[in-house]
Amino acid sequence: MLMPKPKLLLVDDDVTVCYTLAEILNEYGYDCTTETNGLQVLSRLQTELFDAVLLDLMMPEISGIELLQRIKEPFPDLPAIIITGFGSIETAVESMQAGAADFVTKPIDMAVLDIRIKKAIEHEQTRRLAFTDGLTSLANYRSFHTRLQQELERADRYHRPLSLIMLDIDYFKAYNDTHGHPQGDAILAQVAKLLKQTSRSSDMVARYGGEEFALILPETDQASAEALGNRLREEIEQFQFAGEEHLPSKILTISVGIATHGRYASKEALIAAADAELYRAKREGRNRVCAMT
Ligand code: GH3
Ligand code: MG
Ligand code: MG
Repeated sequence: MLMPKPKLLLVDDDVTVCYTLAEILNEYGYDCTTETNGLQVLSRLQTELFDAVLLDLMMPEISGIELLQRIKEPFPDLPAIIITGFGSIETAVESMQAGAADFVTKPIDMAVLDIRIKKAIEHEQTRRLAFTDGLTSLANYRSFHTRLQQELERADRYHRPLSLIMLDIDYFKAYNDTHGHPQGDAILAQVAKLLKQTSRSSDMVARYGGEEFALILPETDQASAEALGNRLREEIEQFQFAGEEHLPSKILTISVGIATHGRYASKEALIAAADAELYRAKREGRNRVCAMT
């Protein structure tokens, strides 16, 4: 399979350096874009996706370290490689402390820069995999638990509402039996996409297990969680999934259970409550939303 070229943003105030270096990086198999104005970098990053950013440390408008800090705030996961003309160990240490993935010193040895870029991108991809479900690209079971713990602590500290949705695809075994596992996998990815699209970016959508998903809803009381639960249920009911007409029920649906934080002493108790509601939704006929009242 042909892998897409890693996308780089090269930031250097010197037009000639930018142009020459970008040309060489493209020959090394990267897709390199350049930016000569340090102040434009953030808006570039907001509109385009990059695999890594290369930053010259000496720029007139803004120091490289300051720019690095400004980038790391909204984009903590974007690998940044610092290019420094000083070659001083202090500068390197300072940039690493500010969140740089690595650094190279001028004059640039292209073979070294190439390796540093590849390592930085690889490191970020590996780190991301540990938190992500491979099939759906959603948060995995582990990051779900980490985030729920954080959100519970936050909700307690600031007396804020927090709700949890657990949902499960109805009769999914029948879908797999009819269409096969690979087609079932495609459905899981599609369901994940719909859940993500329907919820807020501040919510966490996770794949909890096989065909079970969980949504952590910060700042959300029970009524709003129920409204979202119903929207999700309707989205899935209305979406035309490939081959769903062959199911005994004719349509692919989900059952949804909701619990709102407040009366539960622990993360486990909150999860158990949402899970109990999910199973009530199943018992009461599926394709419905049940919330602990
Ligand atoms: P219910 O309405 O009670 O949830 O019925 P169900 O058939 O969905 O539930 P059951 O627990 O009996 O079966 C779950 C099915 O989900 C069986 C399993 O093969 C399928 N499944 C779980 N994980 C995956 C996966 O990663 N890919 C695919 N294709 N299927 C999966
Ligand atoms: Mg199921
Ligand atoms: Mg299940």
